[in-house]
Amino acid sequence: MRKPIIAGNWKMNCTVAETEKLISDLLAGEFDTSRAEVVVCPPFTALGTAARLLDGSPVRLGGQNMSEHKSGAYTGEVSAEMLLTVGAAFVILGHSERRQYHAESDRLVSAKARRALDSGLIPIICVGETLEQRERGETESVVDGQVAGTLAELTTEDLVKTVIAYEPVWAIGTGRTATPEMAQEVHRFIRERLSERDTSAAEQVRILYGGSVNADNAADLLAQDDIDGALVGGASLKADGFIAIINSV
Ligand code: PEP
Repeated sequence: MRKPIIAGNWKMNCTVAETEKLISDLLAGEFDTSRAEVVVCPPFTALGTAARLLDGSPVRLGGQNMSEHKSGAYTGEVSAEMLLTVGAAFVILGHSERRQYHAESDRLVSAKARRALDSGLIPIICVGETLEQRERGETESVVDGQVAGTLAELTTEDLVKTVIAYEPVWAIGTGRTATPEMAQEVHRFIRERLSERDTSAAEQVRILYGGSVNADNAADLLAQDDIDGALVGGASLKADGFIAIINSV
């Protein structure tokens, strides 16, 4: 059984004061973490605050990015160890906004994933096609290339721990969601490709869907066989909406 994950990607939102409010609103709500793992990924500057407030709660913490390097002269970067020591257990890697605005390649994401796993962080590796690629019928080849490229340095053991997020770029922050059937088709395709590496590992890997998930569409998406949770952007910034998504698992 794959335990679903509902992860909130706050992106570049929430000051320390806003983080305090959002986390306390979240903790005041009712949701069942025996049915789904709940993860929040605030910006780096709010991780310490979030960690302090989440101490003793089942809600887990993640970073939104990290360096492929261990430490050293990499101005502006944050290492896996820094994330771990501030209380993070997860890290989002290769988000389409990182790929688009920071030219992150599959090779770089692969190196980051290797570093994350070596350090004890669980990577949430994002893949997904653009609208043009979907319209050209390239969805499977694009996603296949990204999955193969970003997981290139991982062993079967690593694979089981790794989380994949299928996030069609055209659905991120646009209010356009893939239909549950469209998403399921790609999730199934990813799992089939993973099973060519190892059938048992492929059955264990959690594949999240991301792209304008909200309280209204979450239940139908999460009901699909190969959708093991959601990576939620905009709708994770309001506690009641995020809780409703958690409760639709
Ligand atoms: C995301 O940032 O990963 C995301 C899916 O954003 P949104 O839910 O806002 O589309």
